[in-house]
Amino acid sequence: MTLRPTVDFLLHDWLHVETLQERVRFADHSRETFDAVLDTCERIAREKYAPFNRLVDTQEPHFDGERVILPQATHDAQKAYAASGMLSAAQDYEIGGMQLPYTVEAAANAFFAMASVSIGSGMLTTGNANLLMVHGTEAQKQVFALNEFSGRFSGTMCLSEPQAGSSLSDVSTRAVPDGADFADDPLGPRYRLKGNKMWISAGEHELTENIIHLVLAKIPDENGKLVPGTRGISLFIVPKKMVNTAGELTGERNDVALAGLNHKCGWRGTTNTLLNFGEGKYPVGGEAGAVGYLVGQAGKGLHCMFHMMNEARIGVGMAATMLGMAGYLASLDYAKNRPQGRPMGPAGKDPAQPPVRIIEHADVKRMLLAQKSYCEGALALELYCARLVDEQHTADAAAADDARLLLEVLTPIAKSWPSEWCLEANSLAIPRDFPVEQYWRDNRLNMIHEGTHGIQAMDLLGRKVLMEGGKGLTLLAGRINDTIQRAIHVPEFAAHANALGQALAQVGAATKAAWATGEPTDALANAVPYLQAFGHTVLAWVWLDVALAAHAAPESNARTGRLAAMRFFFHYELPKIGAWLQVVSSRDQTCAALSEEAF
Ligand SMILES: Cc1cc2nc3c(=O)[nH]c(=O)nc-3n(C[C@H](O)[C@H](O)[C@H](O)COP(=O)(O)OP(=O)(O)OC[C@H]3O[C@@H](n4cnc5c(N)ncnc54)[C@H](O)[C@@H]3O)c2cc1C
Repeated sequence: MTLRPTVDFLLHDWLHVETLQERVRFADHSRETFDAVLDTCERIAREKYAPFNRLVDTQEPHFDGERVILPQATHDAQKAYAASGMLSAAQDYEIGGMQLPYTVEAAANAFFAMASVSIGSGMLTTGNANLLMVHGTEAQKQVFALNEFSGRFSGTMCLSEPQAGSSLSDVSTRAVPDGADFADDPLGPRYRLKGNKMWISAGEHELTENIIHLVLAKIPDENGKLVPGTRGISLFIVPKKMVNTAGELTGERNDVALAGLNHKCGWRGTTNTLLNFGEGKYPVGGEAGAVGYLVGQAGKGLHCMFHMMNEARIGVGMAATMLGMAGYLASLDYAKNRPQGRPMGPAGKDPAQPPVRIIEHADVKRMLLAQKSYCEGALALELYCARLVDEQHTADAAAADDARLLLEVLTPIAKSWPSEWCLEANSLAIPRDFPVEQYWRDNRLNMIHEGTHGIQAMDLLGRKVLMEGGKGLTLLAGRINDTIQRAIHVPEFAAHANALGQALAQVGAATKAAWATGEPTDALANAVPYLQAFGHTVLAWVWLDVALAAHAAPESNARTGRLAAMRFFFHYELPKIGAWLQVVSSRDQTCAALSEEAF
């Protein structure tokens, strides 16, 4: 059993990606070119990533006082990834890209996430360069983004600080104009940055010639004070090594110093760093202060950064999905081979019988079907969101705007649902000291980075379902109702269509009830149960829609499996939303009102 047939089914039988060829941007593509990309990525993931997943977990990055040392396998994997052209897959032909639909790019990247989630940091490099292609100047694109797409440089995102994690308004890194001619630098208005950035992934290594940090910092006002809140945040390009306008290294190091490597429970193949900016360890031109070039307008840094964060959120959701999938496939293999226990007969168990393989026990099948329904459902959701990205970029104006709004509403689910439920899949998959233990540790961090679970939940209930007069929620309800209308006419799906209709109505009513007093403290007191119920309703919709495509396909074991996973989700999972929405609708204060002394 491999991932590929599921990916092919979702891309072609369900999402019909080949219809994207009708768009001018993708006109040169065909099923053959999509298959060639998937074949290449599957092969590189199998040869350069999967065999070293354990190694990068046990041989953690270490600092020898001068350099951060990573296993040779990490260097080889990253070289192979860059050589495949995947860093610039979605970019224009003129700059060496493939103009590949994002849906296919996301599917191709799934193979790497499943083989070894932490060996590569391509997601950060691509996200960083994509941001610059949208918000950077021509020179910034040429010097920084293009060299990231080629794999010569790599990228980071530097948001968090020791005192500013979820609350980015508390960022205290300062950026001051660098000299009287600061505005005239060909690489963008030049500043000097001072501050500390915490938990920075891929913040220091020798994998590439240079590291391009995208750093959030505040420019002090005329009194030297930092503007409170997020309004004062600006975005800067801070290269680890100084470069000239031709993109060549000048030989001078920028004032960015590694203060330490963080040890984490998972994702150990990727360095995670505390970086000191501007402490004077590597003075530039004899002066302390890290040189940074402003991206976009001053004070609009968070807006620019969101371009990278939204992509990264879908990427994290896909990573969580693939870790769950890796565990599912490993446990399926184990369950098919492990003999244990006797079958239950009318007269109880017969000890004289040989043991059966554990996949023959109903409870093991329950655990396997739960994993399948979580992971294949999450993969469908991620690919659906990726397809919306393509719609947003290439559909006509009205459809593109719908896709934008749908993505706004679905992004917290795309990030958080797999982080919770594909982690649960990993829990179900762990029999003892199986490789799945590492998948679980890797996956556990996905509920934390790119906005914690709690923050995503507040974003969904506090902002996304309300924005633009609730239009995003209405659009989503419209899509769900379309699926219900198609399913209600298929006798074996009619009950599921009704259940989905009721779930949607329950979510709608709970959204209103949560906001009935208009008080955010009431509404958001149970934001995570709301996220769970909303997410389960979305997944039930995705599964019913996938089941309609499966139903139209010829009989096969895969078809039977997909229909069973859909039924599992409706029978065992969707009914849970009642309990979650109960506390949301009643604005239950059991948690919110408890004094800390009572704990
Ligand atoms: C593997 C990994 C990689 C990372 N890589 C990067 C990176 O490359 N760049 C980068 O900038 N950062 C990175 N981070 C940092 C990450 O973005 C932060 O960990 C995250 O934003 C949470 O911040 P925190 O850890 O300070 O937790 P806190 O913000 O202190 O949160 C702790 C808990 O309190 C809850 N909480 C906080 N505020 C609220 C609130 N207002 N309402 C309700 N609940 C709240 C949170 O949900 C969480 O449960 C990474 C983290 C990890 C684990």
